[in-house]
Amino acid sequence: MGPGDLEYLSIKAFQVIKDVDVVVGYNTYIDLLADLINEDQEVISTGMTKEVDRTALAIEAACEGQKVAMVSSGDAGVYGMAGLVLEMVNEKGLDLAVEIIPGITAANAAASTLGAPLMHDYAVISLSDLLTPWEVIVDRLEKAAAADFVIALYNPKSNQRTEQIVEAREIFLKHKEPSTPVGIVRNAKRGSEEMVVTNLDQMLEEEIDMVTTVIIGNSETFTFADFMVTPRGYEV
Ligand code: SAH
Repeated sequence: MGPGDLEYLSIKAFQVIKDVDVVVGYNTYIDLLADLINEDQEVISTGMTKEVDRTALAIEAACEGQKVAMVSSGDAGVYGMAGLVLEMVNEKGLDLAVEIIPGITAANAAASTLGAPLMHDYAVISLSDLLTPWEVIVDRLEKAAAADFVIALYNPKSNQRTEQIVEAREIFLKHKEPSTPVGIVRNAKRGSEEMVVTNLDQMLEEEIDMVTTVIIGNSETFTFADFMVTPRGYEV
């Protein structure tokens, strides 16, 4: 469904949501789509940590012959539901027609708000250790920073997980200058968008939460006015 505002939903996704019998998704996303859903459609919404249950319900409805849209924010294949749907269809050995509709992921939505920070090679890393061991995340942070990737951080900080972003910054400082630009975008392309361009040294002074994407520049990234830009390498 893209980052949130309906203008950023693809026409294809729009048509599919209009066309299906059942829409399945996390409550917040169903609310964002409320204007598109009509009363003849069934809505199955569940809380955040119920992904497996939600997917099972979607698959059950599809097996009954209904057309079902399983909704993720951003791109369904980036920390979204597309993988889980395919894993469960495979696991159950089902012969279901599954189509994945791409969407604008948070990194791309946030990047456009900041200017052009992802113009060169970048890595996307989720700081959530709910499904991934923290040692694996640390290893990837180290390697991406050492290789001078621009790094987009998803799930940077929640009420329960406050230390990961602190440790991530310390890892980055081993490989990147304190003056490295950092862009922080909250609710990108979703109503009350907020953005700030700061640097590695000062980034923790800003509000960071679960509706925030953080983009750390590479050694070439620069800022001007309110923009954050990573040069591609053209002679300007
Ligand atoms: N499938 C989603 C990502 C889900 S992981 C996508 O492709 O965008 C959830 C994380 O995505 C959040 O913690 C946040 O870091 C990021 N995110 C999702 N929507 C966002 C938005 N509108 N603005 C900023 N960050 C967002």
